[in-house]
Amino acid sequence: MKNASNIKNPMPSQKPEIRKDNFNEVALGYTAEIAISEAQRCLNCKNPLCVTGCPVNVQIPAFISEIANGNFLSAAEIIKKTNLLPAICGRVCPQEKQCEGKCVRGIKGESVAIGRLERFAADVLLSQDEQSIPETKPSAGKKAAIIGSGPSGLACAGELARAGWDVTVYEALHKFGGVLVYGIPQFRLPKEIVAKEISSLEKLGVKFVKDFIVGKTITVDELFDSGADAVYIGSGAGLPSFMEIPGEELCGVYSANEYLTRINLMKAYRSDSDTPIYKAKNVCVIGGGNVAMDSARCAMRMGAQTVTVVYRRTEAELPARLEEIEHAKEEGIVFRFLTAPLKINGDENDSAISLSCQQMKLGEPDASGRARPVPMENSEFEITTDCVIIAIGNRPNPLLVSTTEGLEANKKGCLVIRSEGSTETMRNDVYAGGDAVTGAATVILAMGAGKAAAKEILEKHSK
Ligand code: FAD
Ligand code: SF4
Repeated sequence: MKNASNIKNPMPSQKPEIRKDNFNEVALGYTAEIAISEAQRCLNCKNPLCVTGCPVNVQIPAFISEIANGNFLSAAEIIKKTNLLPAICGRVCPQEKQCEGKCVRGIKGESVAIGRLERFAADVLLSQDEQSIPETKPSAGKKAAIIGSGPSGLACAGELARAGWDVTVYEALHKFGGVLVYGIPQFRLPKEIVAKEISSLEKLGVKFVKDFIVGKTITVDELFDSGADAVYIGSGAGLPSFMEIPGEELCGVYSANEYLTRINLMKAYRSDSDTPIYKAKNVCVIGGGNVAMDSARCAMRMGAQTVTVVYRRTEAELPARLEEIEHAKEEGIVFRFLTAPLKINGDENDSAISLSCQQMKLGEPDASGRARPVPMENSEFEITTDCVIIAIGNRPNPLLVSTTEGLEANKKGCLVIRSEGSTETMRNDVYAGGDAVTGAATVILAMGAGKAAAKEILEKHSK
């Protein structure tokens, strides 16, 4: 049976006035009935453009057709063949720019809600007591060391483990998952989901070592000395950028990384947590990406009376996922577009009290192709704020480059890959991908890079 509706089935969600005060998941997930109705909107296209929009080539019409027929576990198995972390991707991927952006149903109406259906099937699978373990090949007698347990490292680890490799993931933090656990808040991606998807990798035989900083605890060379045939660097981009304006050193000023890590990884949002965090009244968040939206929505939930997102361009250029922007607005977050911060002002105790800003207008496109914000004369004004969260971007940490002979980084600190289409760095048998190579990007692109590296490693070692 087909569903001719031009509109997506809405996602059942917590109401804004309730959710803005709690950290429980905002989107509650489709019921079986809604999922089947949504799946029936898919045309099962012969030439499915949606698949071309997916960086890991999930067989979208095939899994949606299983949902339409009520075969939810089969749907999940199909997704898992190409994506080992579907409950995560179904929640956080920018589908509107990827698979859903290409869906033909989007031409005359709304695309099929592919992400919501992926999440539905993955959640059904995770709710089973016993999950089937994807097939793995017999031992290949090869060892891989993966640096970093973010989506990129996890994807590489999963693919190599399936191919019979002995895989160990080394993680600097005390929890596995990278940004999925320290950055993205609980109300968007419950940490129990991340833990469950990671445990499915453990079932594939992947070993996980925490509190282990490669470059400090041991070096990349020592990983090779201890028997690794290949090393994959998925160390992300965890070094926050600052605006370099006066006042960034004041009390009440955070990098988004620090603010989110305190709240998400160190659980400052829970009453039983002893992680210190400043409970601000009027928060300003600088930036317009997912990190800015997460910081703003966390600040609201931490009890702020006002939260203002300050962004240099217009709403049309906001890089955050559409759903996050809509959710932020519904929760009462205010947006000041075409506004650039000039200075953070402090009181006699060196605590932030206001943000001096300047009005901007859009000019000619810059190197990134986006319209360049240009200051307007005599347009300075102040916003009262006791907490400024800076979410203007992150760079890779230089530790691995400085401790590994042969590794090279570009001007932005991103690892250099030896040739286009490859994932191997300038150092033999050391591969890299995800944010460590591209700079801050997306979960699925990081996973795609991890998978591509695994393929390259396997090809090289099968010769
Ligand atoms: P990461 O996830 O950063 O993982 C790297 C891991 O390596 C970390 O755990 C780090 O501790 C570890 N590490 C670093 N150095 C070492 C070392 N020397 N030794 C051992 N371990 C090390 N993307 C989306 O698609 N959708 C979203 O909604 C979204 N929201 C986001 C919200 C926030 C707040 C942030 C910060 C990012 C968001 N992103 C989102 C981007 C996305 O999370 C990243 O692109 C993705 O996580 C990159 O994956 P990665 O594996 O390359 O690195
Ligand atoms: Fe279904 Fe849209 Fe993909 Fe066609 S493009 S198969 S309608 S999800």
